[in-house]
Amino acid sequence: MTWYARFDALAPSHFPGMEILREEPMGRHTTFRVGGPARRFARPGTEAECAALLELAEEEGWPVLLLGNGSNLLVSDNGIDALAVHTGRLNGVSRTGGTAIQAGAGLRLSNLAAFARRENLSGLEFAHGIPGSLGGGVCMNAGAYGGEMKQVLTAVAAWLPGRGVQRLPAEDLDLGYRHSLFSNSPGAVLSAEFHLVPQDGEAIQAMMDSLSLRRREKQPLEYPSAGSTFKRPAGHYAGGLIEQCGLKGHRIGGAQVSEKHAGFIINTGAATCADILALIAHVQEAVYRQTGVSLEPEVRIIP
Ligand SMILES: Cc1cc2nc3c(=O)[nH]c(=O)nc-3n(C[C@H](O)[C@H](O)[C@H](O)COP(=O)(O)OP(=O)(O)OC[C@H]3O[C@@H](n4cnc5c(N)ncnc54)[C@H](O)[C@@H]3O)c2cc1C
Repeated sequence: MTWYARFDALAPSHFPGMEILREEPMGRHTTFRVGGPARRFARPGTEAECAALLELAEEEGWPVLLLGNGSNLLVSDNGIDALAVHTGRLNGVSRTGGTAIQAGAGLRLSNLAAFARRENLSGLEFAHGIPGSLGGGVCMNAGAYGGEMKQVLTAVAAWLPGRGVQRLPAEDLDLGYRHSLFSNSPGAVLSAEFHLVPQDGEAIQAMMDSLSLRRREKQPLEYPSAGSTFKRPAGHYAGGLIEQCGLKGHRIGGAQVSEKHAGFIINTGAATCADILALIAHVQEAVYRQTGVSLEPEVRIIP
């Protein structure tokens, strides 16, 4: 019996009411707008349901791909023989007393920042323009303009294989540049707590507006992408190196090194994952040959 036949047999009775899709195109759930079908796609409605689903998947040995807003994922054109678990419905947020906020893993970072602004709490302005979810943001330790999740995160509730649901303080999450405990392990953030500082909501809004403007001026937001394609190599900027190597505007199929920001590979309309992967490899090879610097993808490649 295939894993997904077993999933089809068990899921309706274990998770009545959970949204389950079959052969769901991942291009619908990634900001690159590419990616073939996920064998099964599930959207748990609560943190408990999400944890129970991951627990069952672990027991049964089902392959799982966890995703938030798919803004850092590059999924194969052939699709994935896995259960995609989408956290989008885990999107509650509340002030838990003092200057603390708690929110679900599926909440968009823009909505998290907007909530903090309404509460006159500062610290999440940097996250306003990052098009990911809270869970994806913790996994990647997302950051921008001098801010990063690590500065404001105090703890998460996470499901961990063999350990169930645990509350983990931020110090235990191995948060570093675009890295966390969750980067290379099958655990899942279910919710997170943040410690912020009081500030006037208008000043917070002004800062968010100014950062949005900088983004719109510098980044090709009019095209599908996954943001910066490569991590920042020590002592350099990926975009600067790529431009220096004459690769700005370079195309393979529908994938292009953005003319506006060479650190972004964009989908000009009909790119495939294969086009984007070929362009990533070409850029890596050319930059290494001309500068000796190895570029490591920041985007998560799901083969
Ligand atoms: C236009 C644009 C601009 C961007 N700008 C920035 C920026 O300024 N700074 C920045 O850091 N990033 C930026 N990004 C990249 C991206 O938005 C971030 O990496 C974001 O944190 C990814 O969140 P997500 O929910 O989309 O994660 P996904 O793409 O869905 O997943 C990314 C990784 O996180 C894992 N994951 C998802 N949810 C969870 C969870 N609940 N628990 C554990 N792991 C999980 C996934 O398995 C995967 O490995 C940008 C992207 C775009 C398209």
